[in-house]
Amino acid sequence: MTHLISRRTFLATTATFAAMHPFSLRASTNQAHLRIMETTDLHVHVFPYDYYADKPRDTVGLSRTASIIESIRAEATNSMLIDNGDFLQGNPMGDYIAYERGMKEGDEHPIITAMNTVGFDAATLGNHEFNYGLDFLMKSLAGANFPVVCANVSKEQGADAAADTTLVPPFVILDHTVTDGAGESHPIKVGLIGFVPPQIMNWDRRHLEGNVQARDIVDTAKTLVPLMKEQGADIIIALSHSGIGAADHSDGMENASVPLAAVDGIDAILTGHHHQVFPSPTYADMPAVDVENGTIHGKPAAMGGFWGSHLGVIDLMLERDGSSWRITGHGSEARPISKRNEDRSVTALVEDQQAVLDSVQAEHDATLAYVRRAVGKTDAPLHSYFALVADDPSVQIVSIAQSWYIAQMMQGTEYEGLPILSAAAPFKAGGRGGPEYFTDVPKGDVAIKNVSDLYLYPNTARAVLVTGAEVKDWLERSAGMFNQVEPGSTDAPLLNPDFPSYNFDVMDGVTYQIDLSQPSKFDPKGELINADANRIVDLKFNGEPIDPKAQFIIATNNYRAGGGGNFPGAKGDTVVFEAPDTNRDVIVRYIVEQGMISPRADANWSFAPLDDTTVLFETGPKAADYIDDVKGVDIAPAGDGPDGFAQFRISL
Ligand code: MN
Ligand code: MG
Repeated sequence: MTHLISRRTFLATTATFAAMHPFSLRASTNQAHLRIMETTDLHVHVFPYDYYADKPRDTVGLSRTASIIESIRAEATNSMLIDNGDFLQGNPMGDYIAYERGMKEGDEHPIITAMNTVGFDAATLGNHEFNYGLDFLMKSLAGANFPVVCANVSKEQGADAAADTTLVPPFVILDHTVTDGAGESHPIKVGLIGFVPPQIMNWDRRHLEGNVQARDIVDTAKTLVPLMKEQGADIIIALSHSGIGAADHSDGMENASVPLAAVDGIDAILTGHHHQVFPSPTYADMPAVDVENGTIHGKPAAMGGFWGSHLGVIDLMLERDGSSWRITGHGSEARPISKRNEDRSVTALVEDQQAVLDSVQAEHDATLAYVRRAVGKTDAPLHSYFALVADDPSVQIVSIAQSWYIAQMMQGTEYEGLPILSAAAPFKAGGRGGPEYFTDVPKGDVAIKNVSDLYLYPNTARAVLVTGAEVKDWLERSAGMFNQVEPGSTDAPLLNPDFPSYNFDVMDGVTYQIDLSQPSKFDPKGELINADANRIVDLKFNGEPIDPKAQFIIATNNYRAGGGGNFPGAKGDTVVFEAPDTNRDVIVRYIVEQGMISPRADANWSFAPLDDTTVLFETGPKAADYIDDVKGVDIAPAGDGPDGFAQFRISL
């Protein structure tokens, strides 16, 4: 009877399913449709919530992705669910567990709890799994009801990858059962092998040096995949926590998914780390990558976005081949949990799975309390009211944290010992955002949610290698913020309204003045308009005029380093370090580690004096409270400006 019911249920399911899914329709005797589902780069996002902004967000959350997973499980004859790494760190819930609650023996990590609730077949390690140290990682993994694999990180390295003593199992061969098109069950051995960028040895040097080693991804695969075949794997899926990048293999490459897909014996590849979607136009026109068919080197591939934004899906049509299986057809897609409308608003496409929310409700509540309470103190107010006219505490703290972080990351590299400068721009500085659109954190407690106020964008940290001449031109580009001022004139408007504040980079680690009597060298888009103009004067490093040929490291973000704002020395070709960490994470870590921060601006830049010359600029009315703190500029209130702004007069 049981058999009859299950058979009938199966047929009914197939009938409905067949209309939507040609794979299951086509599956006949000895053929099975297996659907591989992938989450990747969850970064502790269980709830659809932005803890920095302290408000719900429809673009994130495993509780939402879980609804897509549930509907696929309901309709697909055979499915597996895999997580591709970067689950343990990356939002304030992760920080709360690591910095505050801790992982004592027997504690369960909330992302693991949520993943257990959804029910995963396996997971691999991402680079961020190592951020809080090995002890924290292993205690977290102990709670997982699913195997976690990673082939290229070892506690003891042998002659080749097969001889390594890996930190976690390098691969698993799961005994899975699939139902074929005739409703018959068959065993299948699914091999899953995991990979992480070997750059973890640099990114988490303080945790990993002397404790583990990392191998090249492709070399490791070439050694171990044949072993998996020997051990009976019918199909092999690579869990590549690595992006889709160059086609040619180079030793130790970070984004190795393309040459990895070429390795013999790998049948399908789940990717991640890039926080992108595959298949999607993002990866069009790349060698060996086919976004129409969703393949890399002809093998099905997927990347499920990040933070639960998408579910990556690979469909495999399997056919019994003697005692084993071969893949006779495939497809891949990434299903989103939300869509962005033309007016930029977001519509959720799925609801929450209540059981997933319930499983970590207590930790969610504790995280809310955590982001709202102090994690450190500031001994000076953090505000941006004068960020466009003077060295400023809100920009200074970003610069300080960036330099602190990049100095650590340069250790042990060929760039160690080079002077480190730091570039940061005010993000919340009035303008079109209105007279309240400023950073304003009073002296005293600093909470995590204040950090989003300091650093609005989820940028990642970068280091670029530039010359002294490029440092000067970088600042010339920034100085396009200001209108040219006639010496001796009165109350001319200072700021160019076409110039966004996020392109006004202030450089820490050098001293300089801006001569407003000179024309700008660059226009607001960064085009060279006055090749001989010199607004930046008295530019010094260590009290000496900067050597145009000297080399400097500049700590900045991925937007700027990749050419955003079109800055000299930052066109994408000067990047020497791509951090896995967001600038926000860097600031949070800095505050947590320091306890007390001193964001006092040091007036390392100012306007060059112009006799009998005044200019006007507009800022938020609350600026008046801080006017006595502003260093390096002679400033006084000048009444109300338009649209609720206050006006101030600067005597140059
Ligand atoms: Mn990630
Ligand atoms: Mg400064």
